[in-house]
Amino acid sequence: MQETSASIQITALPAFNDNYLWLIHAGKHALVVDPGDAAVVEQALEAGGYQLDGILLTHHHADHTGGALALQQHWHCPVYAPDNDHAAYRELNAFRVKEGDQITFSALPDLSCEVLSLPGHTLDHLAFYLNQQHLFSGDVMFGAGCGRLFEGTPPQMYASLQRIAALPSETLIYPAHEYTAHNIAFALTVEPENTTLQQRARNTALLREHQQPTLPTTLALEKATNPFLRCQSLAQQPAFYDWQPLDVFTELRARRNVF
Ligand SMILES: [Zn+2]
Repeated sequence: MQETSASIQITALPAFNDNYLWLIHAGKHALVVDPGDAAVVEQALEAGGYQLDGILLTHHHADHTGGALALQQHWHCPVYAPDNDHAAYRELNAFRVKEGDQITFSALPDLSCEVLSLPGHTLDHLAFYLNQQHLFSGDVMFGAGCGRLFEGTPPQMYASLQRIAALPSETLIYPAHEYTAHNIAFALTVEPENTTLQQRARNTALLREHQQPTLPTTLALEKATNPFLRCQSLAQQPAFYDWQPLDVFTELRARRNVF
């Protein structure tokens, strides 16, 4: 559980094989990001004695949206979803949000949430930036990695990751999947001599041995170890010498697809 300012806390709810549904709670009030499985969320709400006051959806994939309708029907709470007409959102009574929108919750007055548009994994992908401290990055950025390009182009995804990289280094990042260990194994093929990455590999192995989440992560750690945020520095290294950073990104994403 991640302690934050005031009394806001953020808890990872494991679901499916490797998803995290992120529960944000303060007192008896809670929000959930990407509730792919309603039962997992209901169980956590009951265990904590929380009521659900809002649902935030980063993108249309079923493992992020599948539980939203059942939760909304039970709790009559607002849903905030990307502004497109994908079938995943159609039955929801959702507020459509986009880049630059600010979301507030009357039950959670200490909380402010800014919407970022980060296309690449899907074209509608959003991230939610909470209290200028916590970024819910969905499937754009993972621990030591990034999402696959299902709908967007490499330049779109690269720009989205650069957007995240421009946030303060102490930003805590909450990806929607536990992919860190496999991503680190790939990152070590790119930068085997990176000592921060080597240390992260050891820390990650220890956490996973004890079934602990490796997330949230910090932007500072990602900048030091995530190859998809390191394309500028990689472009100075012998393996990619004289490449453009975007070409390094495109090459790494292609290699990671088959790793
Ligand atoms: Zn996805």
